[in-house]
Amino acid sequence: MSKSLPERSLRPATLLVRGGTTRTNHDETSEALFLTSGFVYDSAEQAEATFAGTATHFQYSRFGNPTVSMLEGRLAALEGAEACRVTATGMAAVHAALLSHLKAGDRVVASRALFGSCHWIISTLLPRYGITGEFVDGADLAQWERALSTPATLVLLETPSNPMLELVDLPAVAALAHKAGAIVVVDNVFATPLLQKPLALGADVVVYSCTKHMDGQGRVLGGAILGTKKWVEDVLQPFIRNTGPSISAFNAWVILKGLETLHLRVHAMCRSAAAIADFLAERVEVKRALYPFSASHPQYALAQRLMSGGGTIVTFDLAGGKEAAFRFCNALRLIDVSNNLGDSKSLVTHPATTTHMRIGAEERARLGITDGTIRLSVGLEDVADLIEDLAEALDAAGGAVARAAE
Ligand SMILES: *Cc1c(COP(=O)(O)O)cnc(C)c1O
Repeated sequence: MSKSLPERSLRPATLLVRGGTTRTNHDETSEALFLTSGFVYDSAEQAEATFAGTATHFQYSRFGNPTVSMLEGRLAALEGAEACRVTATGMAAVHAALLSHLKAGDRVVASRALFGSCHWIISTLLPRYGITGEFVDGADLAQWERALSTPATLVLLETPSNPMLELVDLPAVAALAHKAGAIVVVDNVFATPLLQKPLALGADVVVYSCTKHMDGQGRVLGGAILGTKKWVEDVLQPFIRNTGPSISAFNAWVILKGLETLHLRVHAMCRSAAAIADFLAERVEVKRALYPFSASHPQYALAQRLMSGGGTIVTFDLAGGKEAAFRFCNALRLIDVSNNLGDSKSLVTHPATTTHMRIGAEERARLGITDGTIRLSVGLEDVADLIEDLAEALDAAGGAVARAAE
């Protein structure tokens, strides 16, 4: 038997350890892993009542599993959302959130600086079903105002964005979107549920890739969608039930256990990221270092208004372009070259040749991604070791800088 949690509101670190937990009659301490595809009924009558919706009983893990439900409960409690559904990947979450809500003839407005696959869904997939998409520069309120002066169905945005850490004035955009008749879907991966609360800032739906900070240890993929009980049950749930983007109970369990340390990890990573942003800003090899909580960030005031921490990612431009960037990446001894993020291991990526290769040079230029841009996901190593690794790699990149300056 589970004791129920106290009625008073609990703080994030507590919810991450306790939220959503239900115990079996064995009274286990740790959340149980239900690796089962189906469930049995006491009788044909109970099966009938379950399918009719007059009895509550798990039916089939495509649309409900006790381990998955615990993860959904924990994420909903943390986000302050009425309901949550988790999916096999972050992209399955974005896809389900969009496709469950949209139909032919609808119009989507999105910020240009989206995760590559989200961009593809709007620019390439949705038009096949008669849904039009329009991209705006997320930081430019005038463009949002123009795009949302005609009716729209859905707004999708990411803030801060990948990889240039551009912010969107969410309360202002949400007000414009609602006036245009649109719901607002926010991809909150970079901020994590700890540093920014999109629902309190005017969003209707929040999506996550649980692959990133929530697992946070590079093991499994997962996604999450959070919103009102009505929207989740009436709009999203039938789509998930019948199309099957469901997460494995094992992966849900790994993420559930990952969440227990999310608070400790994200705050430690933020502290290191801020120190690294300061270190990079002082180096001659670095043209500019972007971090939302650095006073030099072009939207510093907005970041302070929307977020309670600067995040775990630092993006910077090396003088000397691709040659310097590659020398730098190859000279790192501790930090790995990898396109994942939010991991306990610090990771760097060169967006122009990897995550943002497919969008082409023109779109990269519009987003501010240069051949010298590096995205650093700050992990949990000792920050002094990370700074020494970065310093040595910048020294190695220096030769290319000198040549580029000639
Ligand atoms: C990683 C990521 C996704 C996609 O998540 P997957 O788990 O890789 O499918 C979507 N949006 C953002 C911002 C991401 O970083």
